Amino acid sequence: MTITQLDHFADPALAPRLVVKVGSALLVGADGEPRRAWLQALVAELAAARGRGQEVIVVSSGAIALGARRLGLAKGGRGSLADAQAAAAVGQIALAGLWAELLGQHGAIAAQVLLTLDDLEDRRRWLNVTATLGTLLARGAVPVINENDTVATEEIRFGDNDRLAARVGQAASASAVLLLSDIDGLYDRDPRADGATRIPVVRRVTPEIRAMATGGSASGLGSGGMTSKLQAAEIAGPAGIALAIIDGRPETPIATALGSGRGTLFLARSSSEGRRKARKAWLGGTMRMRGSVQVDAGAAAALSQGASLLAAGVVLVEGQFVRGDAIAVLGPAGDLLAHGLSEYDAAECTALAGHNTRDHAEILGYAPRSALVHRDHLVLMG
Ligand code: GLU
Repeated sequence: MTITQLDHFADPALAPRLVVKVGSALLVGADGEPRRAWLQALVAELAAARGRGQEVIVVSSGAIALGARRLGLAKGGRGSLADAQAAAAVGQIALAGLWAELLGQHGAIAAQVLLTLDDLEDRRRWLNVTATLGTLLARGAVPVINENDTVATEEIRFGDNDRLAARVGQAASASAVLLLSDIDGLYDRDPRADGATRIPVVRRVTPEIRAMATGGSASGLGSGGMTSKLQAAEIAGPAGIALAIIDGRPETPIATALGSGRGTLFLARSSSEGRRKARKAWLGGTMRMRGSVQVDAGAAAALSQGASLLAAGVVLVEGQFVRGDAIAVLGPAGDLLAHGLSEYDAAECTALAGHNTRDHAEILGYAPRSALVHRDHLVLMG
């Protein structure tokens, strides 16, 4: 069962965990003030999704746009990196407050999470992000995520949050990402040109598809945010996440697009083999395995059933590795079973090896993690 059409985004069985990305232009009016009525209606839609049993993560831009005016900065706060970062520092408070207030009207708790794209490249931080998002969602909160603009080291570009939304989808094991845009999808050429046609479904982002986003760029319209949205689709697809671009402008954008089928749907790479390869590539990356743990027959059997690796089944720890490093998991005969990201460094693994989870706090002297390698960060190599 995979997402093959837009209305599947509203189906809790097909899209149990949904990321919704909202851009600055939708959130903030030309006067620099939040577009409250629109946002209120959108939040009602998100509450309805939660009512249907879907978990919702919001990726919200708008900090710079909201802060720029308050600080009296020219060019919408994007005149320089320092301007943008200062504007974001001011605007983010207002933005988070707004989401907290409006979600609160539906009894939902908003949780502010500020990330840089780098955070999601670094495996140690990745582990923390995934664990935090998992806990927030399990507790029924709505993570409201933005780029941590004040510490970003690269020029903050329009569209960064499109990629962030896809990465967050990956980190949270979401099934679907919805990008609310100022246009109802990808067009085969400049959308204002004669005969321009919306592409309803994209199987794979090919060079032809990329050319559509950059074609007619003289107008700025055919390109604009489309390039970054395609980059987001290129992250999401191989990770097994469906992504859609829909028109965010209507009062109830999600219901409108899902009801009419208007938008562009980028299908998730469907084969489990493809997904496995992508995860493997990400987990292994270009990094070498920094060490290994050998497990007993019981743990090997549990791993093959999809369980996390618990310290109780570990008999030997080798190598020098730190939390977040990729390690090999070896079977009783030294055969390679899996690759995974270690939740602990080598010394901690050695201390915990063979010990039951309930004893870990005492052994470590601090709060333990739930596993030595969580199953979400484990790829079977057999
Ligand atoms: N993080 C920026 C903001 O909140 C927006 C980045 C983007 O436009 O994608 O203002």
